[in-house]
Amino acid sequence: MAKYTGADCRQCRREGQKLFLKGERCTGKKCAIERRPVPPGQHGVSKKKGSEYSVQLREKQKAKRTYGLLEKQFHEYYVEAERMKGVTGENMLFLLEKRLDNVIYRMGIGTSRAQARQIVNHGHITVNGRVVNIPGYETKPGDEISIKESRTDNGLFKELRGARIVMPKWLEFNTDTFKGRIIENPTREDIDLNINEQLIVELYSK
Ligand code: SF4
Repeated sequence: MAKYTGADCRQCRREGQKLFLKGERCTGKKCAIERRPVPPGQHGVSKKKGSEYSVQLREKQKAKRTYGLLEKQFHEYYVEAERMKGVTGENMLFLLEKRLDNVIYRMGIGTSRAQARQIVNHGHITVNGRVVNIPGYETKPGDEISIKESRTDNGLFKELRGARIVMPKWLEFNTDTFKGRIIENPTREDIDLNINEQLIVELYSK
């Protein structure tokens, strides 16, 4: 699968806000948004007001980059969300949130979505007792999410043991047993992202 190979921090600077792509670095002094909060490139800050299209485009790029997806994958979530009952933009965010890699990140097992994806890819995670190594696997309420028993001593999870993790109320994860669960579906209030999903819907429905 093709993937974005540019600098993560450049993506945040382009969107003008933290997208939390690099784990602990994002909350420290080395964060590029803290040090240099201007868009990358020769021209840096532009005083031009964006067109309606460019505002919508930026919103979509921001969401796509936050979840670390390519255009085709991201658009597929929109298509699926449109088929569902309810508000398309919210449906799209719910589907993105329920991706296994995002769940692992939200549970605090990975420090970034990219790391969480790697953890899933490497077969460290089980869903209902079976290894699932598909980052985009769609979780559902009642799913038991655990770190595979034979991997709990992996250095990746050393700091996790006994840690206090703040996570959304639709999830639970016990850092002593390394077992967790999807309690319920997320609501829009549970998704703490500065994203206006309606702009993305407007962009795609043109
Ligand atoms: Fe974005 Fe994190 Fe880089 Fe800060 S450190 S610019 S939040 S990826």
